[in-house]
Amino acid sequence: MPELPDLTVVAEELARRITGARLLEASAPTPILVRATPEELAGLKGCILGAATRRGKFLLLPFERDGAAQRILAANSMLAGRFWLLDDGKARVRARTGLRLKLDHGRELRYVDREMLGKLYLVRPDALDGIPGWSEMGPDADDPTLTLDAFRRRIRHHPGELKSLLRNPRFVAGIGNAYSDEILWRARLAPLRKRSSLRDEEVDRLYAAMREVLAEATERLRTLVPPDIHEQHREFLQVHLRGGQPCPRCGRELRQIGGSEATTFCRTCQPPF
Ligand SMILES: [Zn+2]
Repeated sequence: MPELPDLTVVAEELARRITGARLLEASAPTPILVRATPEELAGLKGCILGAATRRGKFLLLPFERDGAAQRILAANSMLAGRFWLLDDGKARVRARTGLRLKLDHGRELRYVDREMLGKLYLVRPDALDGIPGWSEMGPDADDPTLTLDAFRRRIRHHPGELKSLLRNPRFVAGIGNAYSDEILWRARLAPLRKRSSLRDEEVDRLYAAMREVLAEATERLRTLVPPDIHEQHREFLQVHLRGGQPCPRCGRELRQIGGSEATTFCRTCQPPF
């Protein structure tokens, strides 16, 4: 599942390559993935693409006329949704293509989702709050205004186990299964620890680990992802899905629990108290 670092880099690459492109045609080959009528899609024709951005796990793409956004595409790609940016739109259309945006100069942006779990919303710029979960979203985990003091205040209002806490977008937005494992390993905190058991110093360590892990991953992905924005890179992660391998810090075997939503951690570096 794409998380904050992945989506940040995809948004940057889209902004770099297609900001200013003219939309020739928008269509939804698999309409169930797109919350927009054919008429609404047809109404986008002739719009100019604004700069893509990210908020939480949403990728945002503005459609502009006369320099003002008319509609925003907000894409939550969930498990398997990916954007493909093609220099030649003649490429075969894959099964489960949710959206095709034909651009000038033969370029095309497509959204493909083999699990069919993603959701694409087309809304007016003032209607983002109507997207399920949007208005309850906490600050982005890399938001400059989320200072250590702000983090300390927020965490008091969010109980539960640390792994779930980090993945809760009402607490901080943008973190999923992979980066929550990486952050907790960096912070030396067990995933099933309760927030209420954390000492002040451990809250501070969690904040520092969150910011460091996300910043480092984003930096790394900038060198790995472009130009193929549909590829997800996880090969540099330290612990996530590496159960049975030695812990990069202490050398003992990493533990992994759970199935498709697995949690990986080190019992030595991340003691359960
Ligand atoms: Zn270890």
